[in-house]
Amino acid sequence: MARSARSKKRKRSKQRVKAIPEEPFKEEPISPLVRKYWLQRYSLFSRYDEGIKMDEEGWFSVTPEKIAISHAQRCGGGVVIGVVIDCFTGVGGNAIQFARMGYHVVAIDIDPRKVQLASNNAKVYGVEDYIDFIVGDFFKLATSLKGDVVFLSPPWGGPAYRTIKNFTLDLLKPKDGYSIFQVAQKITPNIIMFLPRNVDLQQVEELSWLSSPPLNIEIEANYVQCNLKGTTAYFGGTAFGKLDVS
Ligand code: ADP
Repeated sequence: MARSARSKKRKRSKQRVKAIPEEPFKEEPISPLVRKYWLQRYSLFSRYDEGIKMDEEGWFSVTPEKIAISHAQRCGGGVVIGVVIDCFTGVGGNAIQFARMGYHVVAIDIDPRKVQLASNNAKVYGVEDYIDFIVGDFFKLATSLKGDVVFLSPPWGGPAYRTIKNFTLDLLKPKDGYSIFQVAQKITPNIIMFLPRNVDLQQVEELSWLSSPPLNIEIEANYVQCNLKGTTAYFGGTAFGKLDVS
């Protein structure tokens, strides 16, 4: 093959390589650890491309959108208007869906950066006016909070939770699950708790016995595309879809 023809061919093949869309990791500061979550970005936020912002911890801990929508629907499906307190809001996945369902949301996170990200993400979904963001420690704020539903998605300890066979409630952070639940109960018995898929279900049931008479409880396994992503426990009026905040 003549030299010029060969070099033309090489040029063309180079061009072809260039035409393959680049992995967006060059544009976005995404670590290899987060790659797996980035690939699922539209199942975390369907409007991801419209300006959603995350940090590394946010990628691990945000509730998949389909599950967040189902949490919000369980709160009365927009028929009843009330206040939901999202106590560990992170990057806002749940707060946004509660607001879209017609609730007013008080969204708390101890990390100011998380609140910034959640507020940005709420704007993407056009619900920023329905969410009051608070930077603060839920345990310190709890006595001053009033709401119809408390939503708890406390830290599961990062992705390592998956390696545990039976995730007991003492593994939740920053306090054990019993303590977190007891603080929430002082606000309302209508509590939704989003927990790891491998959580000790017997312990979750025991939470309802912390109240006298025991609270109604309903436990749900949460799947996204046939993958078990978490467990939700609905207490009080949120169990069996019987919430009435009128
Ligand atoms: P996971 O372990 O499931 O990945 P995270 O570590 O992301 O969960 O925790 C969820 C959110 O809870 C984080 O955004 C974190 O800043 C927030 N958080 C932790 N402790 C408190 C607290 N005491 N009050 C309010 N928010 C908190």
